[in-house]
Amino acid sequence: MTDRVPFIAGNWKMNLDHQQAIALVQKLAWSLKDAGHDYKDAEVAVFPPFTDLRTVQTLLDADKFEIELGAQDLSKFDSGAYTGEISGAFLKKLDVKYVLIGHSERRQYHNENDEVVQAKTAAAFRHGIVPVICVGETLEELETQGASAVPVAQTLAALAGHEKIDEIVIAYEPVWAIGTGKVATPEEAAMVCGKIREAIAEAHGQELAAATRILYGGSVKAANVAGFLRSPEVDGVLVGGASLDADEFSGIARFQKHIGV
Ligand code: PEP
Repeated sequence: MTDRVPFIAGNWKMNLDHQQAIALVQKLAWSLKDAGHDYKDAEVAVFPPFTDLRTVQTLLDADKFEIELGAQDLSKFDSGAYTGEISGAFLKKLDVKYVLIGHSERRQYHNENDEVVQAKTAAAFRHGIVPVICVGETLEELETQGASAVPVAQTLAALAGHEKIDEIVIAYEPVWAIGTGKVATPEEAAMVCGKIREAIAEAHGQELAAATRILYGGSVKAANVAGFLRSPEVDGVLVGGASLDADEFSGIARFQKHIGV
């Protein structure tokens, strides 16, 4: 056991409009309440599309739900003539606590390379938002370089040049496991998360490495989450598809009942 609070994060991707968002968040909050979930045992966050953020923020605030709010991306710029971009300053105003950076779908479809990910990480720091930096290897990279080389290199690239880092979350998501139903084994996930932690310790010090939550992501469901979270190296999960079903996501957040802690 470590003193890192497990983090259960739901990436909705481009799903659910702001009205559907209300229904999902209400159902999730009530399902967790009925199950007696204690948010000190596992922090729960949702990452809706930008257009839902204000609605979800208002709901969380009005109903005093303890679910945290995250965004799926932010601009590397703070303001100005950047049509279509969203500033970290705007997200902060909406009580957004976390932001996904470098999700493999952004790397793949929007050509986000390590340099962009580093700049967006800097933007998150400037605005006091905790970056959830997504790293992971493709199937080809897995076959040619093994599992940990690319995620470790992407982590170090995202953090390069940042001197004093307060808080980060790393999400190790093998690209071949995202939305495919293929899942890394708990042992593989723990091994890569361990290597990422070692690399952070070497480059940025033991204190940051020990405090950083490193998540696994890729086809996580209530039925397989416990395997990943049994390892002290894995501090939570980033969930895509299964986070769109309130009961399923609530089951994932309640992973502790499966592993008996
Ligand atoms: C994700 O989008 O980060 C993800 C892990 O998706 P899925 O759970 O659907 O594989």
